[in-house]
Amino acid sequence: MYKAIVGLEVHVELNTKSKMFCSCRNNPNARIPNSEICPICLGHPGTLPVINKEAVRKTIKTGLALNCQIPEYSKFDRKNYFYPDLPKGYQISQLYMPFCKTGFLEIDNKKIRIREIHLEEDVGRLIHEKDCSLVDFNRAGIPLMELVTEPDLNSAKEARKFAEELQLILRYLNVSGADMEKGEMRVEVNISLAQGSKRKAQKLGTKVEIKNLNSFRAVEKSIDYEIKRQEKILKSGKKVIQETRGWLDEATASSRRVAGARVDDVKGVTVSQREKEYAHDYRYFPEPDLPILHLGTPEYLNGIKAEIPELPQQKRKRLRREYELDEKSIELFVFNKDFGEYFEKVVSEFDPRLPHTKIFNLIKLATNYLITDLQGLLKGASVSGEDFLITPENFAEFITLIYEGKISSKIAKMVLSEMFSTGADPSHIIEEKGLVQITDEAEIEKIIKEVISKNPKAVEDFKKGKAHAFQFLIGQIMAQTKGKANPQIVKDILSKELTP
Ligand SMILES: [Zn+2]
Repeated sequence: MYKAIVGLEVHVELNTKSKMFCSCRNNPNARIPNSEICPICLGHPGTLPVINKEAVRKTIKTGLALNCQIPEYSKFDRKNYFYPDLPKGYQISQLYMPFCKTGFLEIDNKKIRIREIHLEEDVGRLIHEKDCSLVDFNRAGIPLMELVTEPDLNSAKEARKFAEELQLILRYLNVSGADMEKGEMRVEVNISLAQGSKRKAQKLGTKVEIKNLNSFRAVEKSIDYEIKRQEKILKSGKKVIQETRGWLDEATASSRRVAGARVDDVKGVTVSQREKEYAHDYRYFPEPDLPILHLGTPEYLNGIKAEIPELPQQKRKRLRREYELDEKSIELFVFNKDFGEYFEKVVSEFDPRLPHTKIFNLIKLATNYLITDLQGLLKGASVSGEDFLITPENFAEFITLIYEGKISSKIAKMVLSEMFSTGADPSHIIEEKGLVQITDEAEIEKIIKEVISKNPKAVEDFKKGKAHAFQFLIGQIMAQTKGKANPQIVKDILSKELTP
């Protein structure tokens, strides 16, 4: 029996105004290559780095949100290696005294320990053309935060959940866009298989790293693949080699050729890239151009703590407690933060003096209309955008009108769509367009009698037991009233009229 032991390393580009050690703009996707550069981020001789305060603050904020210890002192180190996207020949990073240590993030009531979070600078980007390679340094020197977990994850699904929850937290903290497709968040996994199920009796296996994971799907798929690959090797009595592998799926396979992979039949495989390098290969040493930092002081940390907003897990608990929402709605309101805030603003417009059950029915109705109808109209746009015109007050009024039976669900759709395009008040729309629901039984009865006398054939059919005839008559009545008749009253009276 094998048990998967998985750890993650996550790189996150921080959304600071300027780069990590110079005043160039933090604009990695600038249209013109090498437009956001200066002698410092190009590593010209004689230049000196200056630490970006905002980047440090965002790193520590992330650490505090993830229950980390913030050591009193921290410092930067040089990691030496050569690569064409690294003009200095070294990267300023942190090895010995990182900003954050020993935290955790809870996933499904399981604590996943975080070993450390440190800060470094990103490298440039290489673009491989047919007969040459180009380098764009716009990304070089952008603050890059690296989070390393302990190997506490045991499945591909768990690793994916961790990465998704981390992305959400980074967005709540507003430290990064954390968009994986844009490379703002990059995940590397290390996997080994342990033999024996009891913790103490476990024989740890050889660790393999997988790089280049640029989607949650790739994180999950590559781990699943790698677990199977290692299992097969171990079952056949062979040894797993300690190495770095790349993930190749259909998307990357078609755009890139990787040695050793049969690209034409690739469905998702990991391929060997190189054998693992160790810290000593980089000859790390303290960065001589930067001072040791003394940040782990109550004044500094309390200031940052005060800026940490309600985090996703707290919000889930509160939404469950305060509004008694179902899990699906909670997840949607937590994931789409603006939408969740809008929901709460709408709810706050309901009169708190109303009886408890009525308020909860209104909340339920509001949730349904937000999630189905309004989301449908938004088509992916945000409720915090300038084009969004429905005030929470108007939305709450709209829900109350439906709840009190003043408009039918059919009319509600029309009203909402009008509110969406004009921002008008729902009662005005209803009045102006004469959309108030007809609930007057005498009036409805009169219309029904008319319809019956005009459609003897349908009445005949109904009496012969043809159910569709009943629906046909309802359709006629609704057409006559332009959809305004209360459907339940129509059904009741029509049944009464047709049954002798
Ligand atoms: Zn620069």
